[in-house]
Parts: sequence; structure tokens; C-alpha cells
Amino acid sequence: MSFKNLGLCDQLLRAVKEQGYDTPTPVQEQAIPVILQKRDILAGAQTGTGKTAGFTLPMLELLHRHKPEKGKHHVRALILTPTRELASQVYESVELYGKFLPFKSCVIFGGVKINPQITALRKGMDIVVATPGRLLDHVSQKTIDLSKVDFLILDEADRMLDMGFINDIRKVLAVLPKQKQTLLFSATYSKDIKKLSDSLLNSPVLVEVARENQSAEQIKQVIHPVDKERKRELLTHLIKEGDWQQVLVFTRTKHGANRLSGQLEKDGITSAAIHGNKSQNARTKALADFKAGKVRVLVATDIAARGIDIDQLPHVVNYELPNVSEDYVHRIGRTGRAGNKGEAMSLVCIDEHEFLANIEKLIQKDIHKFVVKGFAPDPSIKAEPISLGGGGGRGRGGNRNSNNKPRNGGGARGGNSSRGRR
Ligand code: AMP
Repeated sequence: MSFKNLGLCDQLLRAVKEQGYDTPTPVQEQAIPVILQKRDILAGAQTGTGKTAGFTLPMLELLHRHKPEKGKHHVRALILTPTRELASQVYESVELYGKFLPFKSCVIFGGVKINPQITALRKGMDIVVATPGRLLDHVSQKTIDLSKVDFLILDEADRMLDMGFINDIRKVLAVLPKQKQTLLFSATYSKDIKKLSDSLLNSPVLVEVARENQSAEQIKQVIHPVDKERKRELLTHLIKEGDWQQVLVFTRTKHGANRLSGQLEKDGITSAAIHGNKSQNARTKALADFKAGKVRVLVATDIAARGIDIDQLPHVVNYELPNVSEDYVHRIGRTGRAGNKGEAMSLVCIDEHEFLANIEKLIQKDIHKFVVKGFAPDPSIKAEPISLGGGGGRGRGGNRNSNNKPRNGGGARGGNSSRGRR
């Protein structure tokens, strides 16, 4: 199968070729023809599968086939994402794949000034990529007209629900035309996703690439048992011994991310932290420095790291295991992307054994355990409960407990914190 057989126009094929893609990924192969038939889809695809091109290319193709009057631009395609980072990345893909087509697109998210967005929207846009909160601000200020949208994409819908965006999504849906094509992408299937898709999609075609809740095959996973107090020492050892140049490290809390980043610097390893308490500019800079190889280690909380797209990221380390098992799948999905091999390591202390058991249950396999020489856990240390609420924050606004059940019913937005503040 080649991109040529998928029914894309020359301008798109040229853009794809410029990216160096030879063959469509499985999700692209499955989703593109179905989307071009104007069907709704429910796609179970994790980041790293090529899903962004999987919806962006056919969206651009359809917009191209049904061109409006020359020079007229109104919002015809709307892409909703849970976080600013993901919105930016999807927008970049839209611009990249659409570079030989005449469409105008912009990205809209909170945490930055609204006026430049209003100015951009006034010029007339064909494609808008947005996070729900700020989009609704524009809707209520009447600075965006969504009445001509005929293409709606919800990207990482599971995460939008996790973040309490359901009410915002419903409000957005209320101002969209009834007649439209809708694509729903989600890494995991839950009851809530099924409910949303039932209410939103019209006889959808199911597109599933990785089996439900399974972590990608090409990722080598390993557990390094270690005492909590020695995790930092072990991490430094692994980075230096392996001469790792680009490592994404996950911590459970924002405070923990800052502290670890500072400690690594003291160990002579360049590092930056990204989390919801950092300004958008600081996050963008940290990510750019990491991508450019100026810092070796990026320490991140789950939400901040969501949607980070770095080609061929070779190492992901769980400095602490997530208490929400699905986050493990999302985290390790940062490596081993689009066919490249990747390695995901988890430094696990005795306190985290229950989290580990839940993760192994979810991915339906035992992860290989390997004690690094000189770092064997002290058998006399007893497990202590892990505090999950308050303090430095859990990077997810604390609306879930360790059994993965929403505590507040999952419907509330949870104040400003879930409007892209992470
Ligand atoms: P995504 O799942 O959309 O986050 O994409 C993951 C990565 O795969 C991105 O870095 C894309 O540039 C890359 N990618 C997307 N489609 C292809 C393809 N057909 N061949 C090779 N790489 C691709």
C-alpha cells in the first residue's frame, strides 16, 4: 500500500513525500479511505501510530474537493484536543501537510492573550485547532462562527473526558451544525467514551490499530526494582552509563519534577522540567531545548507531557509509576513511535507494587524485572502508602483515585485548573 493508492491529491502527496513517509501506517491505511467516503469513525489509536496524519490528510483532501468560493474562508473543520501542546502539534501537522493547499488555519488555546486569536479569526479561517475552554470563550464573545463546520475531530477524546471537559465539549457541540462528519480518536475505550461516541457519531466505522489497552509492541519495557531513596542515583547512573542523550522522565508531581530536574543538573546532566505551573512560554522553550539537544533530560508530569511528539525518542523513564494505569500506556507511547524501537524503564520501589500490579493487569503482561548491579532494594524496608492528593499536586487535578474511578462523577470541569493549566 502506498499513499498514492489512498486517493489523496497531488498537493498532499507532495507534502507527505517531503516528510519522507514511504508507506502509510496501519491507522492511516485504515482510516483515510473511510474518512474519504465521508463516514464517521471511532478510532482506537495511541499517539505514535501516525494518527494525526491519519485524520489531517483526509480532512484536507475533503476540504480541497469541496472548495468554497475563491477567497472566502469560513471555519469548515474544527479539531478539539485536550492540551495546548497537542493543539500546537496538530496545528503544525495541518500546516505541514496543507502547505501546498490554499487553506488558512489557526490554533486556539488558553493561557495566552486572546486578542491575537481574535485578530486571526477575523481574517477568516478554514481550519481551527482548539482546546475546549478557550474555544468556548470565543464562542461566548462571538469572535468565532462555528455554524459552517462540516468536519469535527476529537483528538485524544479519552483524555478530554479524564480532564473533565465533557460539559465544554457538549457546549461546543450545541453550536455546531447537526449535519457534519465526526471523527473520534481515543487511545483507550471506556464506558464514557462509548457513551460519547453513541451520542455523537452516526453509524461509525470502527478503526482499531493496537488492541484495546495494549502497549505498543516495539517498545522494550523493563522494571528496575530500587529503593525510593536511591532512585535519583540510579537514574543518573543509567543516563551516564548508557550515554543517553535524550531522555523523557516522568514524575507523579510537579514539585517532584522540579526537584528531580534540579538534582540532575547538580549531577552534571542538563535537564528541564515541564508541568502545569510553568508558563506556556517556559514549557515551549523547555520542549524546544530538549528537541534541539540542548538539554538531555526532560522531566514531565503526565498532563504536561501529553501529546509531546518527538521523532525517535529512544528512552522514556518512569521515575515514579503513575497511579492511573492508563497513564503508563500513554507515557511509554512517547517512545517507539512509527516503527522505531524504543525503551521504557520504570524505577519501582516497594511502595509502588500495587500500581505495578494494576498496570500489568491492564496491559495483560508481566513486565521484565531487572535489578541493576549495586542497586538491589534493601529487603528490610517496608512499603509505605503513597500520598496522592494535595501537596505538589498530582498533575491531573486529583479527580481520580487509584482505582481509576472518577471521584466527582467526571462531569465537572474542576475549575480553571483543567482549562489547560497543566
Ligand atoms: P502521531 O501518532 O500522529 O503522533 O505520529 C507519530 C509520528 O509518526 C510523527 O512524528 C509523524 O511525523 C510520524 N509519521 C506519521 N505518519 C508516518 C508515516 N506514514 N511514515 C513514517 N512516519 C510517520
